[in-house]
Amino acid sequence: MRIANVDGRAAVLMGDGIADIEEATGGLFGSSVNDIYERWDEFREAALQIDTPTAPLDLALLTNPAPMPQQVFAVGLNYRAHAAESGMTVPEVPATFTKFPAALSGPFDDIEIHGDSVDWEVELVVVMGQLADRVAEADAWSYVAGLSIGQDISDRALQFAARSQFSLGKSRRGYGPIGPWVVTVDEFDNPDDLALGCSVDEEVVQDGRTSDMVFPVPSLIAELSAIVPLLPGDVIFTGTPAGVGFTRQPPRSLQPGNMLESWIEGIGSIRNTCIAPRA
Ligand code: ZN
Repeated sequence: MRIANVDGRAAVLMGDGIADIEEATGGLFGSSVNDIYERWDEFREAALQIDTPTAPLDLALLTNPAPMPQQVFAVGLNYRAHAAESGMTVPEVPATFTKFPAALSGPFDDIEIHGDSVDWEVELVVVMGQLADRVAEADAWSYVAGLSIGQDISDRALQFAARSQFSLGKSRRGYGPIGPWVVTVDEFDNPDDLALGCSVDEEVVQDGRTSDMVFPVPSLIAELSAIVPLLPGDVIFTGTPAGVGFTRQPPRSLQPGNMLESWIEGIGSIRNTCIAPRA
C-alpha cells in the first residue's frame, strides 16, 4: 500500500488514481494523515476494504506524507564510504541529531539556496506506525508503517558554525523534502537492501544501497528506542551514502536553478528545484 498526502488530505494510491481516505472510509477516518499512523492497525484493516479510486493522481498536489511528526531523528555517518569521504571514523553508536519538524517539506517543493554551502543527502526515510519503546532488533520492522524518500538538505556553514550545530544547519525552511508517498514494508522483497541515489541536473552524484548502512533500520530502531520511545508518525532519516558535495575537491554546492532528483528502489522519485531565497 502507498499512502499519500494530497493537498493536506490522507489518501492511498489505487492504480492511476487515489482514494481519499475520509471519503472512501465513509468518515471512519478523517482527512488527517497523522491519524493514519496513530491508528495504524485499524487503518490497515479499513484500507483493505477500499476498492475504488475517488480521483485521478495529480503529482502536483502531493505534499509530505509524514507531516509534522512529533520527533524527527536523523543519523550521521551511517554509510562507511560517506564516513570515509568526510574524514571521520564510523561511530560506535548511531550519530543522532534532529531536523526540526517545521523544516520538512513535500516531494516536489522548491529548495531555497542560502550561500555556497547547501548540500544534498539522499536518504531512506522510515515512518513509524506503532509506539516503539525498548524494541528488540528482531521485532523492529513490525513497528514501521512504511518507507519514503528524503533529502537531508544541509547548510554546511550553519551546520559547523559554533563548532557544530547539526540540528539547525539541517533545518532551514523546506530542507527536508519527503515523498512522494509512504510505501508499506510488506511491499518490499527485502526492505534492508534498496538502491538509492540522487542527481543534480541529471548528473548522478550519489548511488548506493541501503544494505551498506553501518546501523541498518532494525538496529537504529533498537538503539533509539532504548533511549527514548518512538511515536506513531515519527520519522527517521537513516543517513546518506557517499557522494555529497562538501567533501569534493573542489567542494560543490547546490545553486539556484539546479534540479535535484532523488530515487529509491521500490518507492519512486522526488524532484526539487533550487531557487534563490524568498524575500
Ligand atoms: Zn543526513
